[in-house]
Formats: sequence, C-alpha cells, structure tokens
Amino acid sequence: MRQTALAKVREVTRRKFEIKISGRSSDYITPSFGFGCLYNCHYCYCKRNRNDGLDIATNVGDILTSINNHAYFYADTPKPNQTHDSLYTYDISCNEDFALHHKYHDWRRIFDFFKEHPKAMATLATKTIPTQYLDYDPQGKVRIRFSLMPQHISSILEPNTAPIIERIKAADAFIDAGYDVHFNFSPVVVYREWIEDYRELFEMVDNYVDYKDIVKAEVIFLTHNEKKHLDNLSNNLPGEDLLWVPKIQEAKTSQYGGENIRYKWQLKDKLIKEWTALHDEIIPWNKIRYIF
Ligand code: SF4
Repeated sequence: MRQTALAKVREVTRRKFEIKISGRSSDYITPSFGFGCLYNCHYCYCKRNRNDGLDIATNVGDILTSINNHAYFYADTPKPNQTHDSLYTYDISCNEDFALHHKYHDWRRIFDFFKEHPKAMATLATKTIPTQYLDYDPQGKVRIRFSLMPQHISSILEPNTAPIIERIKAADAFIDAGYDVHFNFSPVVVYREWIEDYRELFEMVDNYVDYKDIVKAEVIFLTHNEKKHLDNLSNNLPGEDLLWVPKIQEAKTSQYGGENIRYKWQLKDKLIKEWTALHDEIIPWNKIRYIF
C-alpha cells in the first residue's frame, strides 16, 4: 500500500552546517531546514537522490546559529550585486519547497531571525501559494520567488502545484504583506509551441502584476538528470518527451558529479536571445537578474 504524504515526513537532527555559495538565486545556500519534497516535479534535480519523503530538521537553532556566524564572519560577497544591493541573501529552500512544507517548519522563528538580522535576508522559491504567510510582515527581509512556466506544461510536469495564474496573482498580495517578490522562470522547457505559450504567460504577468517596479526575474533553461530520466521512464511519468530530447541536448557533468543533459550551447544561446526578446517586448519592467 502506498504511504500517505504525512507518513513520509520524519524529524531529524541536522549534523552538517555547511553553507554553500550559490551566486545566482542567492548569495548562499543554508543548511537544509527540510530535505526532500512532497511535490513531484518531473524535472526535479533534488529527486535524483531522494525520490520521496521529507526530512525536517528539529535543531533549527543550530542552523540559525550557523547562518548568523556565517553572515558576520565569513560572508564576503561584494555588494551591491544582482541578488541584493546591501544584504547577503540566503536560500532557505534549496532542497525542498519550504513554503509547501510550512506546517512542518517553525517558519515564524526562521523568518523572525532574518527580519531582525542586520546583514542577512532569506529567499525561497515556491510553486504553492503560502497564504499562511500573509498575516506575517517580514519587512522586506524574506523574498518569495514564485516559479512560472506555461500552464499546460506545468500541468504535465508539476502535478498538484498551484495554478500558474494564482502564482502570478499572488505577487501583489505578498508585496502588500511585506515580502519581496520575484518570479523564477524555471525551468524553461523548449518544445514546438514554446514561444506562443510564453507570449501568453508574459501577457498574464503584465495584466495581473501592479507592482511593476518591484518584481524581478531569474531564468534557468532546463537541465535534466540521467538518473531522474530513467526513474521517470520506469514510473511512466508523463512528459518525459519534453525533458529528454537528445537531438537538441548535450551531456554535461555537474559540479557534484551528476550526469545531466542541457540544450546544446549554440542553440541555447539562440533560445536565450529569443526568450529575452519576447520577455522584453511584453514585460520590459520585469528586470532579469540572470538568465542561463
Ligand atoms: S517543488 Fe522544487 S524541490 Fe519540490 S519537487 Fe518541485 S522542483 Fe523539486
């Protein structure tokens, strides 16, 4: 019998407190408050090692102490940079969807830490709408990055996640509540009608976001992992033909040794230009922090 999602959540004591350099979505990546994810995106890089279940760290104080020490004594990323003008940005949700797992986390305590910290702020990407956060004001010290892709691709590749239109509409509400909000266009998946679909997506963003001077973007084209690809095939997950297209992809070994494929670099260069031109035609106000 299949376990319920609840039965897959377990509490652990985090023993390692390594803070990694990111340099893109954030300056740094914190030790995992949670490891694993109760969503099941078919392209998920984390799932190559941990296919289901979620570990929640109970020693939150130890993790926060390690972040505090890092921010005071080791963080040396020059400021301003694309992640923030003055604060060190820490991704608290790199190996999970922290917002989806809010009921398992002592999130108010974690947000309080960042809200009060003079040097650090938190950032997290999500595919849910964490309405529970709306009665908390982080005073701009927590950034939520709503992930966006065309809805019909999301429906195939990101089962059970919040509808794309809801993620877009959430931006203004979360800014009103005191959050910093960006869009995370990730992963960009290329298929026959991708440009038409992105046109529709950008038009929705333009129509439903009022805080056009605040919301920025980060953009990451698809990288797919071979182990995850084989796992998807053996589980008959739909959409693998969108993710694994060797004709237009090339092999790449990740810095952590994973065997991955990504769009061929010359093609990718062209795709990035195409995507950016369309983006800048429809939502030029949505400043792109980085794209690759
Ligand atoms: S929400 Fe993020 S961590 Fe969770 S399955 Fe999807 S890609 Fe992976």
